[in-house]
Amino acid sequence: MPLHHKTLAELAQGLRDKHFSSVELTQHYLNRIAQWDKTLNSYVTVTPERALQQARQADALRVKNTAGPLCGVPLAQKDIFCTHGVKTSCGSKMLDNFIAPYTATVVEKCQEAGLVMLGKLNMDEFAMGSSNETSFYGPVKNPWDLTRVPGGSSGGSAAGVAARLTPAATGTDTGGSIRQPAALCNLTGLKPTYGRVSRWGMIAFASSLDQAGPITQTAQDAALLLNIMAGFDSKDSTSLDSPVPDYTTTLKDTLQGLRIGLPKEFFATGLDDGVARVIDEAITQYKKLGASVVEISLPTSQLSVPAYYVIAPAECSSNLSRFDGVRFGYRCANPADLLDLYQRSRGEGFGAEVKRRIMIGTYALSAGYYDAYYLKAQKVRRLISGDFKRAFENVDVIMGPTSPTTAFKLGERSEDPITMYLCDIYTIAVNLAGLPGMSIPAGFSQGLPVGLQIIGNYFTEAKLLNVAHRYQQVTDWHKRIPPGFE
Ligand code: GLN
Repeated sequence: MPLHHKTLAELAQGLRDKHFSSVELTQHYLNRIAQWDKTLNSYVTVTPERALQQARQADALRVKNTAGPLCGVPLAQKDIFCTHGVKTSCGSKMLDNFIAPYTATVVEKCQEAGLVMLGKLNMDEFAMGSSNETSFYGPVKNPWDLTRVPGGSSGGSAAGVAARLTPAATGTDTGGSIRQPAALCNLTGLKPTYGRVSRWGMIAFASSLDQAGPITQTAQDAALLLNIMAGFDSKDSTSLDSPVPDYTTTLKDTLQGLRIGLPKEFFATGLDDGVARVIDEAITQYKKLGASVVEISLPTSQLSVPAYYVIAPAECSSNLSRFDGVRFGYRCANPADLLDLYQRSRGEGFGAEVKRRIMIGTYALSAGYYDAYYLKAQKVRRLISGDFKRAFENVDVIMGPTSPTTAFKLGERSEDPITMYLCDIYTIAVNLAGLPGMSIPAGFSQGLPVGLQIIGNYFTEAKLLNVAHRYQQVTDWHKRIPPGFE
């Protein structure tokens, strides 16, 4: 089996058994990046020297037998995580020249575990988008069909893993950006409970929604990576101080008696027929594994997209005010005075989608409209959480499609923000409630991957991973590699 067909777990085993070294493995992936990434555009920055240096260190630790489970395995980071000494662009012109003076906690934890960083992955500008088309570095192509989008905002992460230009990646999910690209690229993506993974050093979009997580080939790999990423961080005031379980120990638990809730709102108009068929088949498979199905209702979930598009822009308008041409990133040429410096630096440095959101957010937070929009949206948010709370009194997990359609064509929705926003109709409510959610490969419709979404109650990542893993033991969708990238 070629090295790049292996999962994180298999690569770790191969390193342990000395079938190959971390340097060989790292070089193999660097070669694949050099060969394929001109086509895909999944990386903003590749860091070969740094990667090989880390690989040599990992090999030395393996010799000494002091290595952790994933030591020496390569990984790529979404370019939203600050990396000391390496450009952190956040997919933007604003930060095209930004070399972070410190390293994000997630990246630091990966380094401490001995993972080798191959580079930084492309993404929508400041993580705003569902197609990776708002990136300053250009769109990323979906390896399953190069005329289609990989999803977003973690589109580089998903395309990179799908094409096996990295065995796994990090992503972030504010309204669906881990789960939706995972679905569109046939991958496993996990958005943890809000507070489970540190946000320190992760460039903020909407702070009350943002959460980092793994994008991998399998649930087992997601468990291995979450073991490293999760945990309390005193530098993030919303990080939860509770022990991190070993997510790999419960993967094989039986699903006998598992109660699955199917929200009727997730199977209504707007859902593509081919996607619906694949999801039905996945649910049938779960019944064979011993689960029972209950129809539930999440009545306010229909309000999640409008509530999100008030709350997320409100928070982003505040978070992005720090990019003023003085302290960070892009500065316009020859400013006439301070006001001109602010206006032109921001005007020239931000793209259209980011500006749209800053304007909406500033408007929604302004004195005359705060009650009508922001406060109202926060009340809706509470109602949405209440829907889930009630649902979880009777079910263990909730399932449905991750995305209403499969990957769409590049350019097809980029001129129409509302259509683009509706890509996240099934994912956004999960962020508003702060719950954990996953997407796993469930089959194909007209040759394109379909993701099954699994939503759990707070801090039940172990259960989600168990539910996903058992399915992956009896199906092989997650093993399919895009033709041409084998
Ligand atoms: N697509 C959603 C948006 O554009 C979600 C993005 C995300 O999760 N970062 O805001």
